[in-house]
Amino acid sequence: MTPSRFVVQLHDATRLHYDLRILVGGALRSWAVPKGPSMDPAVRRLAVPVEDHELSAGDFEGVHEGSRRGTGVVIIWDEGRADIRRDDPGHLSVVLHGQKLGGGFGLTRTGVQRWVLVKVRDEFAVPGSDITADRPESVRTGRRWQDLVR
Ligand code: MN
Repeated sequence: MTPSRFVVQLHDATRLHYDLRILVGGALRSWAVPKGPSMDPAVRRLAVPVEDHELSAGDFEGVHEGSRRGTGVVIIWDEGRADIRRDDPGHLSVVLHGQKLGGGFGLTRTGVQRWVLVKVRDEFAVPGSDITADRPESVRTGRRWQDLVR
């Protein structure tokens, strides 16, 4: 088990989406998750892999200047320790220790530019829950993304 970090940023671009970033090998491996993570193991969320990001990207909360579509607002929706359990081609298994997300999660490639993010059935799982609706705020500042719109 490799101790690491993760961040989930809520980003209002062309569409509102969540950017899941996990520190692996010195870079932030990143996926865009349109509907965001779920704590319900029955829910499979599309996660589109995007390019690795610099570490500093995971610290950003604010408004991207020059955003052409959407408002460019980013909030840090969750963050914390991540323990990497398995890192295989097409599959990443992690245990997250965030303020909102906890326990095991699996990321599995299911097609070209198409992965799924699923909560592991463990003691942290909350069947039927909707964490993105229940906890919309930034874990750093308590602000909602709409609070940052200029
Ligand atoms: Mn994004």
